[in-house]
Amino acid sequence: MSSLVLRGPIFTGVDFIEAGIVIVDQSKGTIIEAGRKGEVNEPKEARTLEIQSSTILPGLVDAHMHFFGSKKYDMLEWVTTPETLVALRSVADARRLLRSGFTAVRDLGSKVGTFLRQAVDEGVFEGPRIVSAGKSLSQTGGDDDLTILPADVSKRLSYSYYCDGPWECRKAVRKVVRDGGQLVKVYASGSMAQGTRVRRQFTMEELKAIVEEAHAMGLKVAAHAYGETALTNSVDAGVDSIEHGIGLTPVIAKEMERRGIFYIPTLSVYQAMAPATNEEHNRLVKRHLTEDMELVKQFHLKIVVGSDFVGCDTEPHGENYREIVNVAKYVGNKEALVAATSRAAECLGLEKVGWVKAGYDADLVIARGNPIEDPKNLSPNSILHVIRKGQLYTVNG
Ligand SMILES: [Zn+2]
Repeated sequence: MSSLVLRGPIFTGVDFIEAGIVIVDQSKGTIIEAGRKGEVNEPKEARTLEIQSSTILPGLVDAHMHFFGSKKYDMLEWVTTPETLVALRSVADARRLLRSGFTAVRDLGSKVGTFLRQAVDEGVFEGPRIVSAGKSLSQTGGDDDLTILPADVSKRLSYSYYCDGPWECRKAVRKVVRDGGQLVKVYASGSMAQGTRVRRQFTMEELKAIVEEAHAMGLKVAAHAYGETALTNSVDAGVDSIEHGIGLTPVIAKEMERRGIFYIPTLSVYQAMAPATNEEHNRLVKRHLTEDMELVKQFHLKIVVGSDFVGCDTEPHGENYREIVNVAKYVGNKEALVAATSRAAECLGLEKVGWVKAGYDADLVIARGNPIEDPKNLSPNSILHVIRKGQLYTVNG
């Protein structure tokens, strides 16, 4: 057994330990023991890292991102970039994500995510643990059906399966399963990407069919939802997480709390948006950054960090920590760290991830300073080491 001992302050996934010790079995890739100094049995001969003026944390999790392998924030480019190029750029993105402290990500719709996951699991290249939805589900003429293209071309090039009617929806879920998708992403409304559309997409019957079929296959469902109707439909259909979630109401928030539905507000993309000429767009963004976040606190919603970064120049993978900083502005630093570690792992359905705890996978990050005092300490320049499945990557220092 080759052990690695880490001595220093620990954020466990929920709590902070001032003087802690973590013992990693590098061959098994697991944490053998973790706790307060004096309460942990240290092996006599082991490689030791003294973590001074820094903190040991569970590896960070981004619960909403995309492997689009695209340079621009432009839907036409997202669907028309050749898949080989998307894959090659995404290999570099996976490496950047890992080396910026993200040891797990949830890809909510892409053409290459399921294959990237397979290649990372096979050890072909270094990257975070990937939970991929594969292709997302959308209605014909929906959010990501590029109407400037002929319908058949759009359908062929899209990162979504277009499906209409409950049986086509069920079949699309089955195709996601066949592709190796580990959850289902559904567009329950339009979005900002193609104008400001908050009308519901999919009927209740279609949404219910998707959720029932996905759950029967053991897959969770993540719903992109803007506006009261889409949010209500998604919640009532039984989805597991609400993505973006613009336009919460107390009634919807209460039901989400009762059902334990995760809420991923993807604040960074909205904060980065320049004021638009469209007044409705500005109103929705403002509402999301004020009233929606107030309801999150009021109803103790299970908020999770998800950047919605696609890997383009304005949303580069490797800078995903910005969402932790943004979430912290509303719910506090410690809660934001919970939302990026233990709770995010729960959202992804990863049982042995997200905690610095005995028996868990040794997916860890060591960051300069104390991120509980300032989450900006999770910026790529402040990440000293990343440990993934027991393997140590020294990034800075
Ligand atoms: Zn997204």
